[in-house]
Amino acid sequence: MTVRTRVAPSPTGDPHVGTAYVALFNYCFAKQHGGEFILRIEDTDQTRSSSESEQMILDALRWVGITWDEGPDVGGAHGPYRQSERAALYQEAAQTLLDGGHAFRCFLTSDELTALRAEHQQAGATHSMVSPYTDLSRAESDALVAEGRPFVIRLRTPREGTCVLQDRLRGTIEVAWDQVDQQVLLKSDGFPTYHLANVVDDHHMGITHVLRGEEWISSAPKHQLLYAAFGWDMPQLVHLPLLRNPDKSKLSKRKNPTSILYYERMGYLPEALLNYLGRMAWSMPDEREQFSLDEMLAHFDVDRISLGGPVFDVAKLDWLNGVWLREALTEAEYADRVAQWALNRDYLSQIIPLVRPRANKFSDLAPLAGFFLHGVMDLSPADLQGLKGVADDDEVRRILTWCLWRLDELRAWDPDVIQATLREMAEVMGLKLRVLLAPFFVALSGQKSATPLFQTMAILGKDLVRARLRHAVDVLKPLSGKEQGRWRKAFDEARAEHAASLAAAAGPA
Ligand code: GLU
Repeated sequence: MTVRTRVAPSPTGDPHVGTAYVALFNYCFAKQHGGEFILRIEDTDQTRSSSESEQMILDALRWVGITWDEGPDVGGAHGPYRQSERAALYQEAAQTLLDGGHAFRCFLTSDELTALRAEHQQAGATHSMVSPYTDLSRAESDALVAEGRPFVIRLRTPREGTCVLQDRLRGTIEVAWDQVDQQVLLKSDGFPTYHLANVVDDHHMGITHVLRGEEWISSAPKHQLLYAAFGWDMPQLVHLPLLRNPDKSKLSKRKNPTSILYYERMGYLPEALLNYLGRMAWSMPDEREQFSLDEMLAHFDVDRISLGGPVFDVAKLDWLNGVWLREALTEAEYADRVAQWALNRDYLSQIIPLVRPRANKFSDLAPLAGFFLHGVMDLSPADLQGLKGVADDDEVRRILTWCLWRLDELRAWDPDVIQATLREMAEVMGLKLRVLLAPFFVALSGQKSATPLFQTMAILGKDLVRARLRHAVDVLKPLSGKEQGRWRKAFDEARAEHAASLAAAAGPA
């Protein structure tokens, strides 16, 4: 048997360090067994997926040093490797399940579903919800289809007994069947959900081992049912421990930068980041902290993955990256890496148009544009105080926090979008744009005035902007849990009010 593993990211945002972490372990496992490692794009969520995100994920994984044998960009014998290009396969599979009685059509409208959920909750039910269409005969179900009633296809789950699963690291996992929901497999638009597409693809792509985050354990019973219904062998499951914030919650960008692009922009070495991700769940037999991908591969043992909740600690990564910079590179390599990082033509040519009007000699560039090479800015509270038109510290904190929340919603990141968004936020907050932007200049450049703000933000990138804005808030006073709740509510209300006033101004439709 050829070992085949895969990483299956959904292209719905920035490339996440968790994707590189899961890819690394799948890669090591496959390669160590002389097997193949596949990259599959799970883009069944049409509204949230984008080709830009897919491209960023591929680029970011390549940047950290992971390669794949098959994938949407390199092809392979089991393609296509994008789920959006495999729709017929899932529809056929759903039909098979329906014909075999392993799935049923559910005709609940979304209002009915919401009402049923509320009822279920109010009744304090301890088992998962059951659709009233579960036991409809095929003839009755066909008749509703003939009437043109829209439907989804749901998984038929046992209501009694226990699901027994095997996980290579965790051993036997037992889940009562009445806790497993009647998962939607095919949506009313004919698109599959993650569960159906994932199982069908793992089978057709010959995947033998699934190494993935532990957040998917609760999906495994549904997957097991699907494999049994199709009569297919289930791959061996290996649920990796989830990366965590220092407070032990699931790693999230609200608490810790999670985008690989952030670490690239901050000037970490890809080898060090990958080394650190390897250390999250595994250690070298001799416990040495610094090791390359080849060294990890040579010593890898899946059964030595440790299940403790690994904390992604940026200070620890800093330390490890420092070791790499000091010990693993020659001076010539060091110089090349610095140039690759930010002293390259591409980065400079983005910055030069912004500073050229103000520089009389090259040595003016450092004071004008030095902040493009920084991480977060070195700020004291005084830097953010006494800004013209800004009332007090809390106003600065509120401006930056609210804008951060709004900017976090953006998918596109270019000067026009940023400008429109901050203009809108000035209206929402009832502030002059100039006043709203004042703390941005300080937070982002360390100075009261700097290069044109919207272009500057576009060049710095979303992640570094987020990190600098958050740092500025923290320098004044970190947001308390209470403020978080209160401000979020006020933020939502102010936006709703603003939207309503725009609608009123536009007049009746
Ligand atoms: N598309 C899923 C994700 O985004 C894949 C989960 C799995 O590996 O089964 O993580």
